[in-house]
Parts: sequence; C-alpha cells; structure tokens
Amino acid sequence: MSDIKSLLEKLSNAHGISGWEGSIQQIVKEEIAPYVDEIRLDKLGNLIATKKGVAPSIMIEAHADEIGLMVKHVDEKGFLRFIRIGGWFDQTLLNQRVIIHTRSGPITGVIGCKPPHVMKDEDRKKVVEAKDMFIDIGCISQKEVEDLGILPGTPVSIDRTFASLQGDRVTGKAFDNRAGLIVMIEALKRTKSKSTVYAVATVQEEVGLKGAKVAAYGLDPDVAIAADVTIPGDHPGIEKKDAPIEMGKGPVVVVADASGRGLIATPQVIEWLAGTAREFEIPIQLEASDGGTTDATAIYLTKSGIPTGVISVATRYIHSPVEVLCISDIEKAADLMARCLETAGRYFKN
Ligand SMILES: [Zn+2]
Repeated sequence: MSDIKSLLEKLSNAHGISGWEGSIQQIVKEEIAPYVDEIRLDKLGNLIATKKGVAPSIMIEAHADEIGLMVKHVDEKGFLRFIRIGGWFDQTLLNQRVIIHTRSGPITGVIGCKPPHVMKDEDRKKVVEAKDMFIDIGCISQKEVEDLGILPGTPVSIDRTFASLQGDRVTGKAFDNRAGLIVMIEALKRTKSKSTVYAVATVQEEVGLKGAKVAAYGLDPDVAIAADVTIPGDHPGIEKKDAPIEMGKGPVVVVADASGRGLIATPQVIEWLAGTAREFEIPIQLEASDGGTTDATAIYLTKSGIPTGVISVATRYIHSPVEVLCISDIEKAADLMARCLETAGRYFKN
C-alpha cells in the first residue's frame, strides 16, 4: 500500500469531531515531527508546527475536524437525543452506526427512528429529520447511560472504516478533511523550501472556520495555502455545468468559492499556484464555485490581509461516511504544495 493510502486509512478511521480533534492532532504530530523545528498547540487546540527559514513566511494548513454529533439529552428509557455538529444531510444520518466517545472509552450505538411500516403514507415519502432520530446504545434507563459517562456534550462520530474501491479509488468517512491534512503533511516531507513554513492542523472549520482565524492572526504569515476537498461533478445526479471538476484529473486550484462571498484569490496567488503547476508539469483544475468555502476565507481576511490560495482534492459524496477520492489526486496536490513552498520567494518579494 502506498504511504499516502495507509496514512489516509489511519486518519479516516480515527475520530475527531469539531472541538475534539486531539487524536487527529496526535497522528499529525507524529508524522511531521522529524521535518520541523518546533511543534505546539495553541489555546484553541490548533497544532502549529514551525520549520524555520527565510522570508517569505508561508502558512500551510488543513482542518483536522470532521462533522459529527453531540449528545443533547438522555431520556428515561436510555435513548439519546443529539445535536448536529457541522453540515449534515439528515437522510445520511438515519440508521448509521455511531461511536459515543466517553472519557472511559468508545461506546457503540445506532441511530434509529420510527420504522417505515408504521409511518403514514405521506410521511414515508419525506426525509426523516434529525430531530426525530435518536441514538440507541442498548441501555434501558437514563441512569444506566449516565453511569457510562455519557453526558450532554459527549461527542459522537460515525462508525465507518476505510475501504479500497477499484483502481486507486478509496472510500471512507472524514476524507473532508483528512485528505487535506495529508496534502499538508506530505508537502512538508517533500519540500526543499528555504522559507519559514508554518504547518497548521486547524480546529473547528466545519462550524465556522474558527481555528484558522486565530492561528492566522497569531502567526501573521506573508502568504498562505489551505488544503481541503471539493465537489466533483462526475457522477450521476450532478452535471458538469454545476460542478466541472473531475476526480482523478489532478489537484484543484480555487480561484473563487461560495460565489465570491467566500474566497476570491488575488491574481498574484493564482499566478503563484498555477505558474508553479505549469513549471513542474503538474496537471491542475481551476475552480470557480458557488458551493461552500474553506479556511482560506478566514485566513485572507486576517490583519491587513494575507494572500491565500487553496489546493483541493476532488472528493465525491462529501459530508457522508462514504466519501470517495483518487489517491493520485492527493499525491499530485502534495507535490504542488511542496513546489509552491519553494517558488513563493519568486512570487512574493518582501
Ligand atoms: Zn473541509
């Protein structure tokens, strides 16, 4: 198995919903320690690794958190109600097996709802809403649940493990954004950059780009690149005109996202990323999307403005436990980021 594939398996199978990224940070730390001078956690839990060098200073980053759930209430019969952390499509949650992360270890549960057999005809045609679902862990009383250490605020993640599909395609949960983390980790391993590089695994992106905001403020780098995933339009149910990106066609350089309300990369940033790709013959796809956004939006609006780009990996079915991507896209995205760290000095002169 390639290094990238086995690292993706490890990171995808690990659990870290927004606010609870510790076990993900630990894996990132072990991977990058030999390649940096110093590693620390900031006050919100962002993992910040520094490789000392010359100007311009460059922040590369990826968010460590995955979307998940949190316990809201335990009823007298021992069923758990939950809140959603991050952007879930309710239909995706129904009948998933989940893991409740207590202080004394993981506990398995399942998300249940009223069975279709006893639904009214019109209800059976509707999407069941998360507020009508519950988690069943097999307990029969509230006390039994509380004795396990399950309290309001206990984090819950989806129980789904990594698997290989055909070719170099793979499936699993939380490729958003463990794929981005690998782009950052591998870029750090592969680069010969002389610049000061800050590699940051950020927290709480899925709930409002929060970690990136404070990390960028604290570091105040000259330039930055975020690594994340993006939506390809190469499968049934979506058309090229809605999402022209394709899986397997190389890293995506984001020119604008969220119809410009997210990031609009400056021409200089695009020239840096696309120019470097041209120079090193790395195929890229340019993206202008009306979909979501990334940490880059928070970073580029920090202090007096930080020129920031995004390198993304095309990933199908994002925000589901069966995300699909091509390993070669991560491979090439990491190469592009590594080379951009080397060329930044030519594009950004201080
Ligand atoms: Zn993401």
